[in-house]
Amino acid sequence: MSPNSSQVNFDAWPGEYNCAVSLTYDDGNDTQLNIAAPGMEARGFRGTFYLSSGRDDWEERLARYLPLHEAGHEVGNHTVGHTCSRNFRDEPGAQGLETMSLDDIEADVLEAERRLSMFFPRESRSFAYPCYMTHVGSGLTRQSYVPIIAKHFVAGRGQGEYGFSNSPHNCDLACLASQPLEHMRGEEIVGILDHDLVRGRWLILTMHQIGGARLGTAQSEFERMLEWLDRERERVWVAPVAEVAAHLRGNVQTAND
Ligand SMILES: [Zn+2]
Repeated sequence: MSPNSSQVNFDAWPGEYNCAVSLTYDDGNDTQLNIAAPGMEARGFRGTFYLSSGRDDWEERLARYLPLHEAGHEVGNHTVGHTCSRNFRDEPGAQGLETMSLDDIEADVLEAERRLSMFFPRESRSFAYPCYMTHVGSGLTRQSYVPIIAKHFVAGRGQGEYGFSNSPHNCDLACLASQPLEHMRGEEIVGILDHDLVRGRWLILTMHQIGGARLGTAQSEFERMLEWLDRERERVWVAPVAEVAAHLRGNVQTAND
């Protein structure tokens, strides 16, 4: 593809960067602490780790991420309850997003924020929609909770079509596209990265386990992605979601001044 100057967004990014990439990890597990964070830090990269805080041992689980917070990674909000659609469950009358109101979800994300702030205070934080789902209610009463996230967070990470990323000018910061990397080959990941580099966009990649069975991304493929990012480090801005979002909000501010 040979982009012309009207298609690319290079001016949106700081310095000489042509595009932005955010590496994000959901739900917390050992492979994030033992493989993902050290692999990124060895190359000077920082990412975003989205944690929910609804289990009885939530304080211990959050505390394990203190070294990552201190190293400059973002620990993001992923609700207290990690509530997804009740359609995932089989029993009649199951609870889920369909049985929640906007007030319910707002109370949940604010409680999650209170818990996260005890361990990981920061000026602004991003949010990730559990199961990439952005609604409460169902049918005639189904409503988007994106406006709640827009009110309280610098950014919200949703999902998009395959290989889809974010225009720095036109994305909805409260409902950003992301690409899940489950079971994806390194060459496929690099292909998506290459595509974004020439278009000047912001690609958010979502992972759960590195090398694990549950929603896993193989460690060899993960390393291959890091090697590509390292090779392209002068052209690709690798940064946490909150940092890139704050930069884009600053661009909008400057344009309006
Ligand atoms: Zn999750």
